[in-house]
Amino acid sequence: MAQVSDPGDFIWVHDYQLAMVAEHLRKMDIRQPLAFFLHIPFPSPDLLRRLPWNRELLRALLEYDLIGFQTLRDRRNFTSGITSMIPGVRILSRHRYYTLFAYNNRIVKVGHFPISIDFAAFDKQARSKDVSEAAWYMREHFEGRELALGVDRLDYTKGIPERFLAFERALEKYPDLRQKVSLIQVVVPSRTLVPEYQTLKEELDGLAGRINGRFGEPGWIPIHYLYRSLDTTQLLAYYRTSEIALITPLRDGMNLVAKEYCACSVDLNGVLILSEFAGAADQLGQGAITVNPYDIEKTADAIYLAFTMPPEERQQRMQMLRGKIRRNNVHRWVNWFLAEKSLPEESAEMSRK
Ligand code: UDP
Repeated sequence: MAQVSDPGDFIWVHDYQLAMVAEHLRKMDIRQPLAFFLHIPFPSPDLLRRLPWNRELLRALLEYDLIGFQTLRDRRNFTSGITSMIPGVRILSRHRYYTLFAYNNRIVKVGHFPISIDFAAFDKQARSKDVSEAAWYMREHFEGRELALGVDRLDYTKGIPERFLAFERALEKYPDLRQKVSLIQVVVPSRTLVPEYQTLKEELDGLAGRINGRFGEPGWIPIHYLYRSLDTTQLLAYYRTSEIALITPLRDGMNLVAKEYCACSVDLNGVLILSEFAGAADQLGQGAITVNPYDIEKTADAIYLAFTMPPEERQQRMQMLRGKIRRNNVHRWVNWFLAEKSLPEESAEMSRK
């Protein structure tokens, strides 16, 4: 990067793997503005304290001029971390979406900028001939049944075992769901060589087999578990067809699947069940049914609530969700972030002093 960048370039670094880049670039005497966006959550000070190299990490992050987080909670966690653990960090001013800090005779701007999707592109593709046809075939195949959809990378943060248990509990507690709802769980293989991920895969195989063995009947499989990635047409057809989305991560920076699902729910018949621990809950919490994914009982109740929700309420909620994502789309997000790269005039003055 040091070799290919010009002095006038704005350098925008993405995600945790590259958190230390600014520090290295500064050592190579790169002086231009550097920005960073963290796609995952930032830990609370209590958690951060456990990390043996926490101060090195915080100091390295403070080499950026602009640091963006997904949510206000992440921004607050980072603020608590640096003000309590790094001597010399001083808050200059707080604003709605950012805080200015003074550190080592520099100004660092720290904000929250929830990432989004290209709403118009998803909406358009969900209405395309290919996706409409694929959705029609799915509807025919699952005739008379509602579909609850989960789409996740294989990852322990996604709460997939807890989701299977909640679905099982719903079938147990509300027998009228039996034969009427199937859970389609798409699990995209990830970090397949890491033993913990292999163990998680085995756990899911076991749970799906056990639940299907317990409740399945001829002509009805409770959990359709697909361990592979889908092509875009198939994925969007599932988004468009499924009446319920079960997005229940234990922790997630944002969760774009939640936003993609709403953008593709063009028939306005989808219900979003969303974990309160997904960054997306900050914007979508009102139109969605929010759940604590650790609470299996209440998540089971949420599945039943979604299943029994009248069409008018589904429509009303989905319209609200789609309106929010349409307005706060990814193009707006990029422009917003780039507009924040300049410091307010008085801070720029200080920075020069
Ligand atoms: N996705 C994909 N292929 C699939 C299933 C999902 O490319 O078969 C995409 C999905 O469209 C979404 C992304 O994977 O854009 C998942 O993003 P999310 O923020 O939900 O979770 P992450 O995997 O980044 O933790």
